Amino acid sequence: MVDNELKIELGKQGILVTTIEELYNWGRRSSVWPMQFGLACCAIEMIATTMARYDLARFGAEVFRPSPRQADLMIVSGTVTKKMAPQVVRLYNQMAEPKYVIAMGACAISGGPFKQGYNVLKGIDRYIPVDVHIPGCPPRPEALIQAFMTLQKKIDGQPLTGEGRPRFLDADAQCEFPVPEQGAHDLEPPSNQGVWPVEIQGVGSRERRDIDGRQVSTDH
Ligand code: SF4
Repeated sequence: MVDNELKIELGKQGILVTTIEELYNWGRRSSVWPMQFGLACCAIEMIATTMARYDLARFGAEVFRPSPRQADLMIVSGTVTKKMAPQVVRLYNQMAEPKYVIAMGACAISGGPFKQGYNVLKGIDRYIPVDVHIPGCPPRPEALIQAFMTLQKKIDGQPLTGEGRPRFLDADAQCEFPVPEQGAHDLEPPSNQGVWPVEIQGVGSRERRDIDGRQVSTDH
């Protein structure tokens, strides 16, 4: 077993020591290609992140792919309207594993300034799993770069076997989620149970319960 100190010492002498796990994760985190789409004003900041001043290419992520089949990362940049939410979930389902999601901006994480709007989703994490949330309206390009580095750190720390292994190496893990449809009054289902606690509509209040049925909060 080579400990970290020895590794650094050997590195100084030009000897590179690594593990398959490190090599594999290094490859994944250095080639995270985002999908090319944007939803609202946050998308302008996302575009700025790829330009010369901020240069997302430094992280190997400048190749924005026009097809979900070729993309690893979905950056949900902007307001997710209830009309658009099914398309976002469908695109997520069409991405191949390993895939990641960054929810960029107050709108994408919670509805933001439009939270009370009848037509705006109160966070895309109701329907798909989000790896990194970025607050702010709009978050600056530095915030997106910070989120990207956080995602890279997450990928770096993933063991390839045993508990805590990534979803795509777990045959039982869910990688596609139901696409919501427009019902009589709202989207149906109101959330996907695999990623968001069950919501029960009460009179004048809404209880939020976790997957095991335990109450976790009440909204009025
Ligand atoms: S968070 Fe602000 S900047 Fe981003 S999409 Fe919403 S309103 Fe626009």
